[in-house]
This record gives sequence, C-alpha cells and structure tokens, in this order.
Amino acid sequence: MEGLDRNLIDGKMVPAAGGGTFETLNPATEEVLGVAADGTAEDVDVAIGAARTAFDTTTWSRDHAFRARCLRQLHDALVSHADELRELTIAEVGAPRFLTSIAQLDSPIEDLLWAADLAERYEWRTDLGEATPVGIRSRRWVEKEAAGVVGAITPWNFPHQINLAKLGPALAAGCTVVLKPAPDTPWAAAAVAQIAATETDLPPGVLNVVNSSDHAIGAMLSSDPRVDVVSFTGSTATGKKVMAASAETLKRVFLELGGKSAFIVLDDADVAGASGMAAFAACTHAGQGCAITTRLLLPRARFDEGVAAATSAMEALGAKDPQDPGTICGPVISARQRDRIEGYLRLASEEGGTFATGGSRSATHDRGFFIDPTLVVGLDNSSRVAREEIFGPVLVAIPHDGDDDAVRIANDSPYGLSGAVHSGDSERAWAVARTVRTGTMSVNGGVWYSGDVPFGGYKASGIGREMGVQGFEEYLETKAIAEAV
Ligand code: NAD
Repeated sequence: MEGLDRNLIDGKMVPAAGGGTFETLNPATEEVLGVAADGTAEDVDVAIGAARTAFDTTTWSRDHAFRARCLRQLHDALVSHADELRELTIAEVGAPRFLTSIAQLDSPIEDLLWAADLAERYEWRTDLGEATPVGIRSRRWVEKEAAGVVGAITPWNFPHQINLAKLGPALAAGCTVVLKPAPDTPWAAAAVAQIAATETDLPPGVLNVVNSSDHAIGAMLSSDPRVDVVSFTGSTATGKKVMAASAETLKRVFLELGGKSAFIVLDDADVAGASGMAAFAACTHAGQGCAITTRLLLPRARFDEGVAAATSAMEALGAKDPQDPGTICGPVISARQRDRIEGYLRLASEEGGTFATGGSRSATHDRGFFIDPTLVVGLDNSSRVAREEIFGPVLVAIPHDGDDDAVRIANDSPYGLSGAVHSGDSERAWAVARTVRTGTMSVNGGVWYSGDVPFGGYKASGIGREMGVQGFEEYLETKAIAEAV
C-alpha cells in the first residue's frame, strides 16, 4: 500500500516536515517492516490549523447527510482493502489472525456504519415547548452540535479498533480530527489515512493523521487552544498528564485508561469451565487489552480445581505465531514491553508467588517478543502483581470466601474498567455484576463488546465513554435556544 511513510494533513498525504522517518517492526520476527513519517511539532501545528479551518469555515459540522455519506464511503473503501489491512495488522501489531476478523479489524470497520447511521437518525433538536419563566412567553429548544476540533491520541494494542472508535463517532458528530497514533503501530493509522485521502470525499482538514516517534507531539494536542476536545486512550499515567495539560485551556477531556479487571467464579459455577474461559481471556492478544480480566477470583474450597483448569488451558494455548489461524496468544508488541512483563514476573517471585504455568519468555521462539502464558498463585490482592496493569499474558489466581468477599476483592483496585462473573444462578451473578464498580461486566460469558455499547471505566480507568450513543455524545455540545412567542 502506498502512503505508509506519509502523514495526512489538510487532505494530502505528505512526508514529515524535514523528511524524517522511523522504523516499524514485526513483533513476531523482529524484522523491520518499513518506515513511517516522523512527524514534528510543525506537522501537528499545521494539522491543527487545517482541522480548525475545516470546522470553522465549511458546512461539515452541520451537514449530517454528507457526513454519513463520507463515513459509508470510508467503510466501503476499508472493506475493499480488508485483505491488505489484515496482513498489515498481523505483521505490525502481532495480532493473532483470528482477532482480525473481530476487534482487531473487521468489527471496527463495521462500526463505522453504525456511526454513519447515527449521524442521520440522532435527535439533534428537542422541542421543550413554551413557558413564561420571567414574564416573557418563550418557546425553548435544545440543540446538539459538534464540539469542534478533536485531538485523538491512541495506543498500539488494538490500533484499528481504537482509531476508528474515535474517528467514526467524532466525524459523525460533525467534529474535525487530528489523530496522533502510537509510535509502535504507525502503519495501521497511515493505511486508514491513505484510504480516506484517496477513496472518500472527506474534505481537506476534516481528518488529519500525524505519526511520529516523539510522544511529546501528542502533548501539543492537550495544550493547543485551537483543540476543543482531547480523546485519549492509553495508560493511566499518560492520561493524568493529558488531563493536567488540558486544564490550562479548559478542554473537554475524554480518557480511556488502564485496567486490572476481575474474573469472578462463584461456588455454584462450573469452576473448571469458567477458569478455562478466564485463561483464554487472559491470553488473548498476549494479554494486551485494557479490558482483559487479569485477576481470577476462585472460591477457596475449589481453588485447586480452578487453577488446574486454567493451567491446562494456558498450556494448550501457548505463545504462537500470529499468522496461524488457531493462535490466540501471539507476541507482545516490543522488546521494551517484553522486558517490562519479565520485570513483573520477577516481582511475582519476589512477592512470594509461584507459577502454576509459564513465568518466562517463551523458549519455543528464537525470534520475536513472546512470553509464555502465565498463571501466578500464592499472592493476595495486596501484591503489586495483583494491583498493577502488566499488559502481558499473566493471570493472578486469588481465593475468595463467598460472593461478598469476591466483590470486595474485585473492588479493591485502583481501576474499574471491566469484569466477569460466573454462577449457576443468574440472579446471584447479576447481584455481583451490579456491585462491582466497573464500566462493563460480563455475566456467564455474555459479550458486551459492540459499536452500540458504551465502553469506559470507573476510577483510574477513565472518564467518559467510547462507542454507543454515550460515546457519540462525548463529541457534542449542548445549546439551549429560546424564541419569544
Ligand atoms: P501510553 O499511555 O504510553 O501511550 C498512549 C498514547 O499517548 C501514544 O500515542 C503516546 O505517543 C501518547 N503520549 C505519550 N505521552 C503523551 C503525553 N504526555 N501527552 C499526550 N500524548 C502522549 O500507552 P500505550 O503503552 O501506548 O498503551 C497501553 C496502555 O493503553 C495500557 O495502559 C492500556 O490499558 C491502555 N489502553 C486503554 C484502553 C481503554 O479503552 N481503556 C484501550 C487500550 C489501551
């Protein structure tokens, strides 16, 4: 595909100012795939200016039907390039091939249609009727309008999902966007930019994509007064910096951050079956998902049964080549990330934990950043390994003493992104689901992930929601208008 070494600024695919590039790697082989544009502060400045001009001087923000048409064009164009995008995603992200038919590629493309439909069917205007509040008879309306220029900052773990879950709703709402993708996966965003620039009618400046190896250029989106909204997905530590930097210009900030979610198995559940599912979840994309459940809370009396089932599931899954359609757990994104995970594995031992399985980088690969699926036992919820986000295929099993105790442990976390509960009794499972303080909960294997379902976190997992009508409304302003009658 052309344009992977370019940025999209003001409708054109252009090299970085100064012509710099940086390499993008295949994490399964450590081979250099090629180079991306190494955007600079100058590029971000021009991109913000283009987005501002497109918002302020065109009909983009008010023409709902045109926006819906552009989003459907983008959907159709991405679908027509799905095979190329799939291979690129497996190579650059290390995403297991099976995941590209769901959240790593096909589902977020499909969700663009949902966003396009919403642009047309959303109730942009509500008539509140007449009233005489201070002696003047008036008719009142509430109108929704686009919030303005969006600075979108994204991570590398599910690049298409996160990039498109911001672009689709933001563009459907009538905003213009500057997207700053993660340096680990620049091609995923450049490919979408190239397709948007060459195969859709998106007007110049409406969508800008600036790749860079320099994290600091993301900070410009928080501080620039021309940006109205910062939509950030990434770590909690960076999210705090984004929020602080946005305070000076009083931007609206939307944050999707980290997680350390609990998979709760109650004592009347199929403990072995549920524990196998927990192992599968923890290994998916090598555990590099913010909403992945990474603490397995097992009834104390059936702890060994759950650990045995999770162990055998993890050993069957292994860490494998992402090209293989049967792979669930591929490589982690980089040497830095592998080293960070190994640091947590050493910490698990130092804290007194042991490994029911795994515990090290994979011996079956002589290249690539592979960690064996790992189940840690012998630690309680106060350990750092149980509290901090590891972002690798590492599950910590912790015993609980009944439903209330399981909820207490689940909630004893700085995070509140996701969770799961399994029980033979649906009502009992629902009671637990309602008391866990997280933005999403799966009951007995239910799947909440979908374009129309709001996703986001409580506590240190974030502020606001992505996807669903609630996510769309993050990109809207509310205006009340009254006319004397
Ligand atoms: P990160 O926070 O290091 O980086 C995220 C993005 O922020 C990157 O594009 C980076 O270049 C940019 N950035 C870095 N410093 C910045 C600054 N000071 N100002 C503005 N932008 C800056 O995260 P990562 O390592 O790329 O991704 C992994 C993290 O993302 C994990 O913590 C994971 O839980 C989280 N995540 C959350 C969700 C969610 O929806 N809640 C989804 C996926 C990933």
